[in-house]
Amino acid sequence: MSIEVRHVSKHFGSFGALCDVSLKVETGELVALLGPSGSGKTTLLRIIAGLEVPDSGAGQIFLNDQDVTRRQAGARRVGFVFQHYALFRHMTVFENVAFGLRVIARKRRLPETGIREKVRALLQLVQLDWLADRYPAQLSGGQRQRIALARALAIEPQVLLLDEPFGSLDAKTRQELRRWLRRLHSELKVTSILVTHDQEEALEVASRVVLTNAGRIEQIGTPEEVFHHPANEFVMNFVGYVNIFHGRVEGNKAFLGPLEIEYSDDQDTGAARSARGLVRPYDLEIETRANGKKGFPATIGHIHVAGPQVRIDLTADSGETVHVDLSHERFRLLNLVVGQHVFVSPREINVYVDTQKA
Ligand code: ATP
Repeated sequence: MSIEVRHVSKHFGSFGALCDVSLKVETGELVALLGPSGSGKTTLLRIIAGLEVPDSGAGQIFLNDQDVTRRQAGARRVGFVFQHYALFRHMTVFENVAFGLRVIARKRRLPETGIREKVRALLQLVQLDWLADRYPAQLSGGQRQRIALARALAIEPQVLLLDEPFGSLDAKTRQELRRWLRRLHSELKVTSILVTHDQEEALEVASRVVLTNAGRIEQIGTPEEVFHHPANEFVMNFVGYVNIFHGRVEGNKAFLGPLEIEYSDDQDTGAARSARGLVRPYDLEIETRANGKKGFPATIGHIHVAGPQVRIDLTADSGETVHVDLSHERFRLLNLVVGQHVFVSPREINVYVDTQKA
């Protein structure tokens, strides 16, 4: 089932939580909504689920090309999993998963043996059939979220909406669960939207990522597109770590922190305009002596070697703090030590210029 959001706006009082948002999720896709706190992710999810309505006359929701904007949540066949486990404390795991099947109108309800079979199958799917008789308080956080997912799947939803489902878990459990979710999704292929403010989670799990900011969509793209071809400064800054060099462009030059680089400005009026240069840590190179590259001198303050890459923290002679990621091989070759004076140069820099004068 496809999901389409067309020109949806939503105000709470005078505050605009969503401003003219449009989005299409194809059948079987898993899309992540990624954005800072308060950017409108949950509001959008609740509107898709039917738990919230768009402003009057401001937008429509389509499920499989049918306008469901006025349809009640219960009639949309949407499964919902929240950050805070909404399991019933007084019910066993088995009964929690069975809940949605038992409250269906008698005419459409499965017989008891059918319900038991289905719950067993769902518990096997989330690999927790051995916990059927436990109560929620006797489960770990990760196990509870898997049960919450089994419960959401019990009604055979046409759409699955996941609102920070792993938000309150520790980093290691989150990592395991997102891989597990990806495998589960490729097995079930239920059209799903995952809300998260964790960019690693979004990039690893989703086939497409929707970047939200202050009630608007900044970019929709594959993980590769949003990471390597950010549509704007917000996206580049939000997805992945960046070094930011503040400064200005003037004439055909950019003066950004300690850097002075050639810059061809389409809108060059001769007047200086504020600008920022954004550089990924792995796009900065370290040399032990100035070799003619457009770089700047800096002193190594800290070296973190534990990790897939070596992270080097430096302070430029002009005062800026800079982070550089090097491969272990390159790090060994350079023989770097704390306190060493080196030269840093960018391989690639994205320059974002303000429209007004500096
Ligand atoms: P988070 O990651 O913190 O959950 P979010 O991106 O999901 O944030 P929303 O929960 O959608 O953001 O909230 C968007 C904005 O709308 C916030 O500023 C929030 O305070 C406001 N908001 C949300 N629900 C209501 C409400 N029922 N009444 C008033 N304001 C609300």
